[in-house]
Amino acid sequence: MQIPFSPPYIDDSVINEVVDTLKSGWLTTGPKVKALEQEIRSYSGARQVLCVNSWTSGAIMMLRWLGLKDGDEVIVPAYTYCATALAVIHAGGRPVMVDSGEDFNISIEGIRRAITERTKAIIPVDLAGFPCDYDEIMKLVREPEINVRFHATSPVQHKLGRILILNDAAHSLGAIYNSYKRTGAETDVAIFSLHAVKNVTTAEGGAICLNLPEPFDNEALYTELRMMSLNCQTKDALAKSKAGGWRYDIVGLGMKINLPDVNAAIGLAELREYPKLLLKRKRTFLKYNRAFANFDWAILPPSEAKGKETSYHLYALRIKNITEEQRDEMIDIITLRRVYLNVHFIPMPMLTFFKEQGYDINDYPQAYKNFSQEISLPVYPQMTDEMVAYVIDSIVDAYYKVAKVPKISTASCKEKSAPKMEFLAP
Ligand SMILES: *Cc1c(COP(=O)(O)O)cnc(C)c1O
Repeated sequence: MQIPFSPPYIDDSVINEVVDTLKSGWLTTGPKVKALEQEIRSYSGARQVLCVNSWTSGAIMMLRWLGLKDGDEVIVPAYTYCATALAVIHAGGRPVMVDSGEDFNISIEGIRRAITERTKAIIPVDLAGFPCDYDEIMKLVREPEINVRFHATSPVQHKLGRILILNDAAHSLGAIYNSYKRTGAETDVAIFSLHAVKNVTTAEGGAICLNLPEPFDNEALYTELRMMSLNCQTKDALAKSKAGGWRYDIVGLGMKINLPDVNAAIGLAELREYPKLLLKRKRTFLKYNRAFANFDWAILPPSEAKGKETSYHLYALRIKNITEEQRDEMIDIITLRRVYLNVHFIPMPMLTFFKEQGYDINDYPQAYKNFSQEISLPVYPQMTDEMVAYVIDSIVDAYYKVAKVPKISTASCKEKSAPKMEFLAP
């Protein structure tokens, strides 16, 4: 059996929606993007949603809109995909990395210690789809002793009057916060990624959710940012295509990061089926939970706690008391059985570019621990019971091959077999 890590979900309804776009004569940003924005808006409860061509480009644009100046700081977790920090650098800021907690998410105490007069934004990441504690983060940036130190240096920063919270919700479309709210509605700005490996995809894409407080007008902001995503051109391609609509102006330094309709069609069809697909993910996730709960060496990933529920994007299993090398060895053994795995994530301070900037993994012990013990298992809607059982069996088998207790001789180690696994029965 071969089990890919995260194949895209493409059924007839997705294909038909794309074909419909191809036949419509309109390929780039137009009616399908509008429809996708409306769908994401009603699904997430965000006040406005603007689609762009990636999470990364959307984050760069939002940080440029915020008006970062040289040396301005943006707090990010050390444990995330590199895009979270790269967007800050592209927008002219400096990422300040903070260690994680045991739930993989950024440490709130770490955020508190990292805030300075130069802090302009915080980008928490809903790791694996499990939401961060946004009420606590909002409470923190509103504390009088924190807020007096906020030093606005752009019109947007003056208008906001505090540190901006931008949720990296790349993983967490459909996750639940505060028992009923969905992610996308809970922070000033939240950005979903619609990249090919995410729960809902447009091949490449991102959706910016806007929930700015008064005196911001989110609808006016949507119009402004839509223009900014199209070179700050006063007329988009659709408006220009109308008879006599050729004249336009360029009113600022924008970016060219709009999402084409061909891409939006994929996401539009997937989103219609998403509630059903999410339940399928959850089913697989819970099967893993039931299986690994039998082993005291397995640490189950966070899924439901304090009114929060994950989007079941990743199953981030951790193995107690193993080294990074042993984890790597486990993955090699499992790969031989043609089960494809991943590790989310290599902490940024371990990557060459960030090391060269002076970040040091020794400053982020929990991030390193989470990373060194982590294996992400496949958890997508197309997975059958048989596939799930095969993955579980491969993990258990690899664990007992790798985690040899030094005191046991090689001979007795070979004899040692995995406990009987009743959960494998149909
Ligand atoms: C995928 C991902 C991104 C980047 O998304 P793109 O749409 O590929 O730019 C950002 N942050 C996290 C945590 C991600 O997993």
